[in-house]
Amino acid sequence: YTQAKALVYSKNGEPSDVLKLHTHAISPSIPSSSVLVRSLAAPINPADINTIQGTYGSKQPLTSLIGTSEPSAVPGTEGVFEVVSTGSPSSELKKGDWVIPAVSQIGTWRTHAVLGAHELLNVDKEGLTPTQVALVSVNPCTAYRILRSYGPSAGIKAALGMRPLDVGSGQWFIQNGANSGVGRAAIQFGRLWGLRSINVIRDRDTPEATDALKQELLALGADVVVTESHFLSREWKDQLAEITRNGREQIGLGLNCVGGKSATSLARSLGEGATMVSYGGMAKQPVALPLGLLIFKDIRFVGFWLSKWNQQDVTGRKHMIGDILGLVRAGQFRDVPVDEVKWDWDTEEAALRGAAQNGLKGFRQGKGVFVF
Ligand code: NDP
Repeated sequence: YTQAKALVYSKNGEPSDVLKLHTHAISPSIPSSSVLVRSLAAPINPADINTIQGTYGSKQPLTSLIGTSEPSAVPGTEGVFEVVSTGSPSSELKKGDWVIPAVSQIGTWRTHAVLGAHELLNVDKEGLTPTQVALVSVNPCTAYRILRSYGPSAGIKAALGMRPLDVGSGQWFIQNGANSGVGRAAIQFGRLWGLRSINVIRDRDTPEATDALKQELLALGADVVVTESHFLSREWKDQLAEITRNGREQIGLGLNCVGGKSATSLARSLGEGATMVSYGGMAKQPVALPLGLLIFKDIRFVGFWLSKWNQQDVTGRKHMIGDILGLVRAGQFRDVPVDEVKWDWDTEEAALRGAAQNGLKGFRQGKGVFVF
């Protein structure tokens, strides 16, 4: 038997209130279509916390599969596992392979799991660290997919009935939450694909800390970094005019991670016919849109949800992940800063809960990742 531990919740609420650490034993005889895996790394993403809170767009089923006293779910949608054993010798997966979830909300916050082979995607681990692989499938994929769908390559997009980013002569996009995992990925893909970015970050405690974050994003390939206080002030209009050479290079795409006033200002910064894609609502504030932007500037407001897109294009997802891991391996795509949370047999429940609860906190130094 393999001794395993999993974080579980049986009702929605704050992670620090509802998460429990459950210990169970996994039988060595596993179904032929399944594999026993052990976790290597599992990120703590905002969506995981929203799922535990019960505010996310999809809910996890509560089951008694791992012997919890009440029907429960294991949170965590992203991570990398190592295959320990397979239910059938003819399985395509082999002992030692690294796999990532092929479906969302698989439950990665656990030391071991028995999962269906069809629920997993084998990845080439050559030259990669567990954290790099664990972090590939949510944030970079979101940025990749949004920029590919609403960014350049006009011909393909027109054929798909999408709006290309070909407004004016510029290939600018603008985003808030620019230091988020998605934001950092968008900056880097933008640089690789010839797009220029304007990046909004929230002011830090001190000017030095703000400047250090600016420099970090510039080093990733950001063209312009502005603080939110400046972005929401009157001066922004003049600076924007300078950046866009008085509107000659319009901004064709906006990526909204935040909502609230920041999103309104983002929308106001866009050029005629531009698209604003909302993918996150970190400020938990609704978006007010001046109607003139819809009527006179014909700006399109759309949303993006990776889970939906993944279901609709399984093959496309595989290619995308291969492509991104290739860039990581080649040193062309840099990891987000991470805050590693060591999870070994003796790690206490309170420490794991606390780490989960921290995942939605602002002004973090890095993304929380359970490392096993
Ligand atoms: P990260 O944990 O990497 O970063 C969080 C970001 O949110 C930081 O930029 C942080 O800025 C900012 N932030 C935190 N609190 C607030 C606040 N109160 N007001 C404004 N900004 C805030 O996040 P991810 O990149 O993983 O996710 C970012 C968003 O994108 C989330 O809302 C997530 O759910 C969403 N997302 C959506 C997907 C989709 O398919 N639609 C897929 C992936 C992510 P600071 O450092 O200043 O605190």
